[in-house]
Amino acid sequence: MARCPECNAKIVVPPDLERWDRVFCEACGIELEVVDVNPLELEAVYDFEDDDNALDELEEDEEDLEWDDEAEEDEEEEEEEW
Ligand SMILES: [Zn+2]
Repeated sequence: MARCPECNAKIVVPPDLERWDRVFCEACGIELEVVDVNPLELEAVYDFEDDDNALDELEEDEEDLEWDDEAEEDEEEEEEEW
């Protein structure tokens, strides 16, 4: 269970929430970004037109992306004719 940093309303988040995922606060309608998952920490997202601050944040904290290769694998169907 998380709380909206804007209105302090309880926010129900999906159990598989990951860092940088975005959720909406139903109480005040603001968009929130997951800045940390343990403990869960949400930050309001504002649509600024110039992204200077966003760039600074990216530099100091690079994402470690873990790709689940197995889930994405395409299985080709082989039709065997005898
Ligand atoms: Zn809110």
